[in-house]
Amino acid sequence: MIEHKEKDRMAHHRNTWRVRTRALACAALIGAGLLGACSKEAPGGAAAAGDTLLLSNFTLIDGTGAAAKPGQAMLVEDGRIKWVGPVAEAPHPDGVQPVDLAGKFVMPGLIDLHVHLGTVQDLTQKADFFTADSVRKDLRTYASYGVTTVQSMGTDGDAIFGVRDAERAGRPDMARVYTAGQGIVFKGGYGGVPGINHPVATPAEAKAEVDAQVAKNVDFIKLWVDDELHSMPKMPAEISKAVIDEAHAKGKRALAHVFYLDDAKRLVEQGIDGFVHSVRDKPIDDALIAAMKAKGTWQVAPTLSREAAVHAFGAPNPITKDPFFRQSVSPASVTGLESPEREKTVSSNPNWKFLPEFDERAKANFATEVKAGIPYGFGTDAGPPGRVPGYSEHWELWEMVKAGLTPLQAITAATGNAAKWLNADTGTLQPGKWADLVVLNADPLADIHNSKTIDTVYIAGNKVPSVKP
Ligand SMILES: [Zn+2]
Repeated sequence: MIEHKEKDRMAHHRNTWRVRTRALACAALIGAGLLGACSKEAPGGAAAAGDTLLLSNFTLIDGTGAAAKPGQAMLVEDGRIKWVGPVAEAPHPDGVQPVDLAGKFVMPGLIDLHVHLGTVQDLTQKADFFTADSVRKDLRTYASYGVTTVQSMGTDGDAIFGVRDAERAGRPDMARVYTAGQGIVFKGGYGGVPGINHPVATPAEAKAEVDAQVAKNVDFIKLWVDDELHSMPKMPAEISKAVIDEAHAKGKRALAHVFYLDDAKRLVEQGIDGFVHSVRDKPIDDALIAAMKAKGTWQVAPTLSREAAVHAFGAPNPITKDPFFRQSVSPASVTGLESPEREKTVSSNPNWKFLPEFDERAKANFATEVKAGIPYGFGTDAGPPGRVPGYSEHWELWEMVKAGLTPLQAITAATGNAAKWLNADTGTLQPGKWADLVVLNADPLADIHNSKTIDTVYIAGNKVPSVKP
């Protein structure tokens, strides 16, 4: 059962390589139905002309949660931020490429801590679809929407490791990826993708499977604790304990899919490091909050857009007409989502009537955690059919604001907070960090929906193809 869901002669060589890389990326986007996505790249981005960029005259949202600062400049050298501050004080080293961003807003690239990669074509999910190329295609789609890092949550084939390691060895031209490899699923129970995960039946098997994942050098261990509304067996407590203990023994953090409040409490007691969904069966209580605070447990991903998406397409929905949405999916996916047959299939789910309630409860529970001071990140569960890469992250920002966060809190969750979870050199626009950033035409703090007004996206100081607002 599927849950879901990086002098002169050298400079010339570098520039040729980058132009070629962008052309390949454009071809991939066109293949994905993102026809409009590459036009901005035609004149050759500023990043192609040199390794030192000076972005100027923008309003800075730096990802730390600090208030926006107008009239800022940023010096980027070899893909990393060298200096940030007021335009009047900006350094102008020899050979610097100036980029005037007057009237624009610059924020860190979004970091999605819950995605699934590479197994979906149009609206069909299959283990066989998973290849290094299918992963790269998704990572380029994410990047085109300003999502510059993703944490893939436990449904990756082994091809993920080569893609990830190549990115980490250089300056990627697509979203950076962290992976939980193949997450731990209880045999016969809920979670994972058949043909990818290796279900376990006993604590000993669970320990062995965690060891196998650690041997592949996963970034995290993922486990699923759910019974799909009492329709499937749930991972027993002794197995979740074995998974968490072994992950910790091997120096990895463990992340859980949860649905029920009682499971969340037991997992916190067992030492889980973070949740990749909100609790959805009941309002969370003081006991869970106190336990999470005592143990430093993170709400890593609230996945509010997941809860909205699972009931959004059971009837005609204006989202499928939104050009910003349409650039993220194939024409066949749009046709499929709009078909009355699929709407009927979605709305005939026996649990259909409960879905709006789970959606509202996820928002309320997340808001409770935020008010209580629980550390939180940002994540969507995008990837499975109908939960599209790229659009979903913007949707998540909008849902977070609906849940009661300020736009600045939502953006900080998706940038600085998420990078803190990953211990990554990204997520805040400060000296020493990678220049992974999004340039917007309008102020997302004035209206979070302005997250759509993407002008350009940079990863490690290179412009990557991006969607249109
Ligand atoms: Zn998921």
